[in-house]
Amino acid sequence: MKLRLAFLYVISAVLFCLIVVLALENINNKEEEKKEEEKIEFESGSTIQLLRSATGQIETLDLNYYLLCVVASEIPFGYEYEAIKAQVVVARTYLFNKIINDKEELADVCDSYMHCQAFTDIDKLEETWKNKGFSETDIKNGEEKIKKAIIETQGEVITYKGEIIDALFHASSPQKTEDASAIWSGVDIPYLKSVENVEDENYERRTSTNVISYATFKNTLIDNGYIHDLTLDEFNNIHINEYTSSGRVKSIAVGPYCIKAENLRTLFGLNSTNFTLSIRNENIQFDVLGFGHGVGLSQVGANTYAKAGKSCEEIIHHYYTDVEIKDINSEQMKRGEI
Ligand SMILES: [Zn+2]
Repeated sequence: MKLRLAFLYVISAVLFCLIVVLALENINNKEEEKKEEEKIEFESGSTIQLLRSATGQIETLDLNYYLLCVVASEIPFGYEYEAIKAQVVVARTYLFNKIINDKEELADVCDSYMHCQAFTDIDKLEETWKNKGFSETDIKNGEEKIKKAIIETQGEVITYKGEIIDALFHASSPQKTEDASAIWSGVDIPYLKSVENVEDENYERRTSTNVISYATFKNTLIDNGYIHDLTLDEFNNIHINEYTSSGRVKSIAVGPYCIKAENLRTLFGLNSTNFTLSIRNENIQFDVLGFGHGVGLSQVGANTYAKAGKSCEEIIHHYYTDVEIKDINSEQMKRGEI
């Protein structure tokens, strides 16, 4: 009798464990299914070819996954929803402009911010955010915010007179954005004009200072072929030569030479060309305002306008002059049919 009871106990225990295991497996399967469903819902159905600059590999990615990684790489996810939405439309526009006018040899775009748009896979970004101290909830909410903005603006691009624009953007340009013709080649781009810009004054990179010694300044300019020599007397007389229409520095006078502010920005890592300069104790000091080239949408400005109640569309129309936002099928866009 006792033996039979013990046997029953063992059988019951085994059955119980089996039920628990099966139930857990079922939950796991359901979670996997849910993730898969969410992925399918998020996918655009259209793909792009991405060139990984580090390895030279080409990958086929869903368009919406590409946009998620670009937007998450380019703008802080804590920014206002309408600002993020504007960045999504800008990122999509920028991508199709590249595909139509300046495609890579073997792919549609690459992952380098120097050539196309910054692209880091979302799982790598999650790691970075965790290391910066963001909570799992913050990260999940941030990603959901970007995904929602991608779905809500699906197919939307910015056009000017029926053509997809070169949707340039930058981090910050307090007071005014820059006219594209003032910086690159002098060609007028009618939708990239200087416009008034209001920005949150607490932005951490709003102001910055670079102090460069006489020797470093002189040697860097000589090594890069901008000047042949620079006496201390000439150094002490360096001054701003010309301003752009938006009030940024266009060039500075260095002895008999004229150096473009854009070149100085690259050579000495200045945050922008919106600076004042002073010379003291054999050092040149640049006090800089803003961050980036200043052309097109300002991310800090977009966030400030969104906080004040402006919509994604209003933000885009503010930074890009006389443009239209059009809803276009991705396959048509790739072929340049707008
Ligand atoms: Zn590229």
